[in-house]
Amino acid sequence: MTRAAVALGSNLGDRIRHLCRAVEGLKASATVVAVSSVYETAPVGGPEQGPYLNAVVVIDTDLDAHGLLEALHVIEQEAGRERTVRWGPRTLDLDLILFGDQVIDDDTLTVPHPRLAERRFVLEPLTEVWPDAKLPDGAAVAELLDDVQDQQVHRTHHRLRPKPRDGFAARGGWWVVIQGVVLAAATWAVVADGGSLPWPGWVSSLGVAVFAGGAVQSLLGLQHLGANLTPYPEPLSGARLVALGVYRWVRHPIYGGIVMMILGAALFRLSAWTLLVGLAAGVFFWMKARFEERRLMEHYPGYAAYRSQVRRRLIPWIV
Ligand code: ATP
Ligand code: CA
Ligand code: CA
Repeated sequence: MTRAAVALGSNLGDRIRHLCRAVEGLKASATVVAVSSVYETAPVGGPEQGPYLNAVVVIDTDLDAHGLLEALHVIEQEAGRERTVRWGPRTLDLDLILFGDQVIDDDTLTVPHPRLAERRFVLEPLTEVWPDAKLPDGAAVAELLDDVQDQQVHRTHHRLRPKPRDGFAARGGWWVVIQGVVLAAATWAVVADGGSLPWPGWVSSLGVAVFAGGAVQSLLGLQHLGANLTPYPEPLSGARLVALGVYRWVRHPIYGGIVMMILGAALFRLSAWTLLVGLAAGVFFWMKARFEERRLMEHYPGYAAYRSQVRRRLIPWIV
């Protein structure tokens, strides 16, 4: 199984339909991992022609690179592509951009695509759906974007992928409701219950330290929340899938911090009820984070790599 990136382009006929068909066509020979937004771009090179719609699809495939290229040609032909002028208008153009970490250069195929670095209309959608994509030499694809900022690309409202499942439950509504209940229960327990545990005084001091640690971890998480990866169900626009700050140690620092704060308060107050709620909150946030990560891995291929790199979910040295 190889992960590959395919660039789609169309500037003739029903452009959006050609791109949609191409995504469907790819499903015959690959698993579609992610589909970018659709970008509109002025044509580069070739004769006078209309603007392009461009997108990038990330796939996993069992084909080899030449087999995949053949499959791409078949899909192009099905879209009625005629090869006349080089870089001329076309109903559908499918280019193989990356194929695992393979380097290929023969009569029919060059991979990575030789003009990748010069084309914002490929780099932009590629980094949108695969922010930590790397060239075979290890260089980050996202860094190539800096050199093409002078080119104009316009992100359109078109969607090639089906809308993410909608509705209260599918968007995680119940998780949010239960989260509210857990936090309310914790507040109640801290206020109403104290001194019910027959533990020595130093446990209270330990509680203060645990609470403070949790508060710091949450604040550090908040600091990078906008710039870093994963607010659910879709990363904030402009978010990048890179490990920043506390996200280098733990994937869900804010959830983990909240759990530490509840447990710290339980120790400080020597409160059995708060301790129970704190343990329940730990299990709850661990599961909620797991649910969110499943969704993220469906849409952002880079997330799996981040996940294997940052191993702890809630608290750096425990879970
Ligand atoms: P460009 O490569 O600059 O995007 P193009 O897409 O207009 O140009 P085509 O006429 O579609 O070029 O393709 C010409 C040939 O390029 C194809 O027949 C194919 O064999 C070859 N080719 C080489 N490398 C690739 C690649 N990575 N992806 C797709 N085609 C490739
Ligand atoms: Ca092309
Ligand atoms: Ca091509």
